[in-house]
Amino acid sequence: MENPLKKVELQADVYMACLQHALSTENFEVMGLLIGAIDDGVTKISALNILLRLDKKKDRVEISPEQLLKAATEAERFTMELKRDMRVIGWYHSHPHITVFPSHVDIRTQATYQLMDPCFVGLIFSVFSEKKETKEQECVLTCFQSRNNEAVEIPLEIVKVGEISKECMDLFALKDLPKILVQEDDEVGNNCIDNSDPLAIIHNKAVRTRALAHITDIVTKPLIEMLEERLILNGNYKAHLHKVKQKLLKELEKSRPTRPETETTKKRNRKSVGKK
Ligand SMILES: [Zn+2]
Repeated sequence: MENPLKKVELQADVYMACLQHALSTENFEVMGLLIGAIDDGVTKISALNILLRLDKKKDRVEISPEQLLKAATEAERFTMELKRDMRVIGWYHSHPHITVFPSHVDIRTQATYQLMDPCFVGLIFSVFSEKKETKEQECVLTCFQSRNNEAVEIPLEIVKVGEISKECMDLFALKDLPKILVQEDDEVGNNCIDNSDPLAIIHNKAVRTRALAHITDIVTKPLIEMLEERLILNGNYKAHLHKVKQKLLKELEKSRPTRPETETTKKRNRKSVGKK
């Protein structure tokens, strides 16, 4: 069967949010769902839904029917709010310390989604792997679909956007990411709540404090710093645009036709003639 999908366009703000999520931990794979629209064989991703990890084992990414339903409801809300057709059109997950290539489990999972929607795509962010020679950290991103039990790479374009969209910023990702990470830690903590041994309790509390400090240090703090820098940048840009506006207004003033000569302009004109 010929594949109807030509390429995938990923909005830069969604890319940023996914990457931020992928970089939030190097111990587990993280994942989320991608929301957008399909236009003439091009999948356009414009929002995301970060998912709580159901299983903290390595190389285990599962999406529950409830999570899918929740994302679908969010997509429906977008459709209403933005007045354009939006739906769940893909998923992403991270590969910390491993290559970007989809595993057999990934390809199988992807194939199931494609049964529901042939345009459904999978993104994988390989993070925390370093080049052997230079020890440089690198992030690699791939976009794939499953065909005959094999992964096929789909052309991916990151599309520049002027601003971080409201969907990306408020409703979904960035603000919610620290919250979701704390929630995940809560769930792990709740499993040990029945322990009555005082030393174990102290230990568990220390582990929890460390985890929270980690989230603040790795996610929240850089996020706030990034947003503050963006604010400064936007301020600079605003000042620049103001200058351009003033300049254009002056030029407009100059080029206005049939303006009677004033005393000062007459003088200036005479002066410049005299100089010659
Ligand atoms: Zn994987």
